[in-house]
Amino acid sequence: MASPLYQVEKTCPICEKAFTVTKTRGQMIPVKTDTDFCTHYTDLNPYYYAIWLCPHCGFAAHEDRFFTLLESQREKLKQFLSGRQVNLDFSGDRTWEQAVTSHKLAIYYATMVSLPASHVASLTLRLAWLYREKELAAEEQEMLQKAIDAYKAAFLKEKMPIGGNLSEVTLTYLIGELLRRVGNYEEALSYLGRVVSNPQAKNEKRILDLAREAWHAARDAKKTPDAGQDLAE
Ligand SMILES: [Zn+2]
Repeated sequence: MASPLYQVEKTCPICEKAFTVTKTRGQMIPVKTDTDFCTHYTDLNPYYYAIWLCPHCGFAAHEDRFFTLLESQREKLKQFLSGRQVNLDFSGDRTWEQAVTSHKLAIYYATMVSLPASHVASLTLRLAWLYREKELAAEEQEMLQKAIDAYKAAFLKEKMPIGGNLSEVTLTYLIGELLRRVGNYEEALSYLGRVVSNPQAKNEKRILDLAREAWHAARDAKKTPDAGQDLAE
């Protein structure tokens, strides 16, 4: 079988030097998907490779956002990164630690140049999933809370579907489910209740079913605080 990894040459939009990006072929086998859409894979985790990092200047961004910067954003990053010693080369096989670092860098730069809150939220949620993989609960919870805050900001500011794929129904569900996972049951019930009572949710049957389950789990957890972890695996 061909290797699931392959290399592509790219030119960095910040320092304009060429570097090698490692990509995954679309043949990963999903094992299961959590209720916040985190997918688990058997061997190779494609989330590890979603952030591209230039080893020359240190710029890092999600592959969908690597070449979409505005001129003013590029200038800001150029100024910030010029003259810095980076010494990071994440080409080839990536370790879990490198995946975490690449996400932290991408979040840092995305925030610096004010990319949409929905994008920062999705990077932060993926970082939470990396911590989940290693069962680092405190770190995961911290990132889930940050993702909640960013998704709430996106809800107020951005046009649906945000990030190109989250409808209002799905986004409302996701915020509610993340709130449930951080133990904020009262607010989780409010968001999940809005999905369950939204007539448009009928068109998104899977989300409606997930919202119903999460609503019951949040309600039970609110009654008996120790039972809240049932779905949070
Ligand atoms: Zn560069």
